[in-house]
Amino acid sequence: MTIVASCCQNARASAASLCRSNLEHDLYNTMTDRLYYADSFLTNFDATVTDIQELSRANGQSLWRIALDRSAFYPTSGGQPYDTGRLIATARSGAELTAEIVGVEEDEGDARVWHHTSKPLLAGTPVRGEIDTARRLDHIQQHSGQHLLSAAFVQICGAPTVSFHLGEASSTIDLAIDSLTDAALQQVEALSNQVIAEDRPVAVTVASREQAEAWLAAGELRKLPPRSGDLRIVEIADFDRNACGGTHVNSTGQIGGLHLRGAEKVKQGIRVEFVCGLRAMHAARVDFHALTRTARLLSVGFRELPEAILRLQAEAKQSAKQMQILTAELAGHRAEELIRQTPIEGGVRVVRLHLTPPDAPDAAYAKLLASKLTARSERTVALLSWKASETAQEAATVIFARSSDLAFDCGTLLRETLATHGGRGGGSKDMAQGSVPSKHLETALNALNQSCSR
Ligand SMILES: [Zn+2]
Repeated sequence: MTIVASCCQNARASAASLCRSNLEHDLYNTMTDRLYYADSFLTNFDATVTDIQELSRANGQSLWRIALDRSAFYPTSGGQPYDTGRLIATARSGAELTAEIVGVEEDEGDARVWHHTSKPLLAGTPVRGEIDTARRLDHIQQHSGQHLLSAAFVQICGAPTVSFHLGEASSTIDLAIDSLTDAALQQVEALSNQVIAEDRPVAVTVASREQAEAWLAAGELRKLPPRSGDLRIVEIADFDRNACGGTHVNSTGQIGGLHLRGAEKVKQGIRVEFVCGLRAMHAARVDFHALTRTARLLSVGFRELPEAILRLQAEAKQSAKQMQILTAELAGHRAEELIRQTPIEGGVRVVRLHLTPPDAPDAAYAKLLASKLTARSERTVALLSWKASETAQEAATVIFARSSDLAFDCGTLLRETLATHGGRGGGSKDMAQGSVPSKHLETALNALNQSCSR
């Protein structure tokens, strides 16, 4: 899901208090009583279907949206994804009909919560709602952790949070700040976990707009959303006060721990990635597994991994250097042998050779061999081709080089010849490279052979 504005924009006072004081009477008739406002851990409830609409229809299957008079399902908003679960209706016969919930959205206009499902339920149907507990608890931990983290960033770095995103594997907040040191990140993480360990109460109350504005002026409210009317206030005792309509822990201990995973520069500031609670445990377990597996492969303890990898990198660099020297030496010997085997005929010695791995690992080797062939021998032409494999259907590489005592222009000859065979290439007078479709390779090489033998 995409990044949206901070959760506090969704702050809305409890349905019961709002519907009488701030909203029109007809709104009161349609709006959904949001049960999660009063109890974030409520995952079973009874309700009645108040409306049903067809959202879409594809391949004979409809997707419906169902409104209830009351619901504990959290709709996607404020960076937090919707709850999943099901609505269960009982027919007169006693048979149960289960409608799986595949999306939940809110209508900002009439304050209704819509539940998406492929099973239609008629208005007036009594239903039992069941919310998937693990997903709800996970969202509560990440979302409450975000309140804590945002407050800690304000306290330690003076950095306000501008957006929050709760993702599948980890969550992020964007901070309005230009840079962030590792030391500051560690301080913020330490402070957040200290507040979690202290298990401070998290209270949800309703405040008037005037009260909220007074708090904001006194620096006692982190953020105030633009909406008018009463506001739902979420307060971590002696640490943070924020306007928010989301689901929260009852005390900070339920967040279970907060782990910062990294920070990166983004357009609007710095993006900080974090995980809380059971997700943090899972992330630590996955990391530990990867580290121990890697350490076992290198036969070191996992704390010695950085040094072991630095050693490996140095060895690999040294080996590559040696390989380069040996390859050049080998190409030199091979060139000498080829020169011995190929006589000068008609005033020119044409060494024509097709190369493939492992004999010639890449086109660069073919080029190296061509330069060795033509560097010190007389009246010599190297006409080499290279392909990744004999069966490869892709274009073949052609290398065309000559010794300095010959007069023709390799670059021009290669370019013109390959162009007439559907290929392309070019180079200098004494060394040229190009590519040609495999099916035209032989005729292109024959043409080059003829042109340099004239
Ligand atoms: Zn919140």
